[in-house]
Amino acid sequence: MDKITQAIRTQINQTGEKEHSNPLFMTSSFCYDNAEEMRAVFADEKEGNIYSRFINPNTQELQEKMAILEGTESAYAVASGMAAMFATFMALLKQGDTLVSCNAIFGSTHTVLTKYLPKYGINQHYVPVDATEAEWEAAIDENTKMLFLETPTNPALDILDLEMVGRIAKKYHLLFVVDNCFATPLIQQPQKFGADLIIHSGTKWLDGQGRVLGGIICGKKELIHEIYLFSRSSGPALSPFNAWILSKSLETLDVRMERHASNALYLAEKLAHHEKIEWLKYPQLLSHPQYAIAKKQMKNGGGLFAFNLKGGLEAGRQFLNNLKMLSLTANLGDTRSIASHPASTTHAKLTDEERMKVNITPGLIRISVGLEHRDDILADILQALENV
Ligand SMILES: *Cc1c(COP(=O)(O)O)cnc(C)c1O
Repeated sequence: MDKITQAIRTQINQTGEKEHSNPLFMTSSFCYDNAEEMRAVFADEKEGNIYSRFINPNTQELQEKMAILEGTESAYAVASGMAAMFATFMALLKQGDTLVSCNAIFGSTHTVLTKYLPKYGINQHYVPVDATEAEWEAAIDENTKMLFLETPTNPALDILDLEMVGRIAKKYHLLFVVDNCFATPLIQQPQKFGADLIIHSGTKWLDGQGRVLGGIICGKKELIHEIYLFSRSSGPALSPFNAWILSKSLETLDVRMERHASNALYLAEKLAHHEKIEWLKYPQLLSHPQYAIAKKQMKNGGGLFAFNLKGGLEAGRQFLNNLKMLSLTANLGDTRSIASHPASTTHAKLTDEERMKVNITPGLIRISVGLEHRDDILADILQALENV
């Protein structure tokens, strides 16, 4: 059976009401018939729910679906993408370990790697987005335990070669961890290239409607178990309500991503040669600097594209102000199209030089393409470009 069918049909056990859509298990704990049953569940001798900080039926269902879609043995869901990231680092790294990461990563991930992990004696070496195999290898030292990257990168949409980094991880026996938030498992499955753990912010395309926060780690059973043990004691539990929302959302992920991607490709092709635009990056356009890698590892180009306005910082601000329909908001991966200007918002605290290191030019605009009619999105962008 196709994995999309499997994920859609995956459901936790029906209750006595024989409901078709899964109910919400809004409960913090679960009951036992007698002391012996309770003892056995606590002792891990018998399967059963204990407490929603550990696991909840709604969370369980979401995890099963995500493991099917990513093609991994197991998955564990937590309260946000960042909780997933932090639990992964804390559960699997220890004092003295180092990790090698691409420097173009989500802002809060960068903060965790540079501000918090070093407090526990865990340090990182950064490599640039276009690092060669030799440059990745040169960053590895005898204490390195993990290679980390996200692809496509946020917000500049560069593509890293999963096959190449997977090969290095194998050669040096390192954990290979991928933030797969921008692609989703419907477009890219990093485990095919040797990733041991795949991290998602459920908040973005997985929910896809801008409603709830959530995070999920998919991977090998024994690694996920370590992350589960850390999380059940430290408490980044996902709300059953959010799990219920996210699980239902996964049933439409495939059709949503197809449309997000076809809308994005249409817009990218229409806008690529616009007179106000210096360059436009979309993984499925031949002009993308890593087009060949994108072709190899992504089913389509995804729902995001980025372009650089010739007018720089001021043009970026003006473009946002000119938009009439697209939302100005920090999120991405919504049914409604969103525009962002990283240099004046999410990355405003960095210096020009720091921004350039991760390919954030002053006029960079990132568009998260929604499900509105593609010509309405195009019309809004075109009219906003007129006076920049
Ligand atoms: C949003 C995001 C995260 C963090 O997820 P939250 O759910 O907001 O905690 C991590 N990585 C990427 C690439 C993201 O876009």
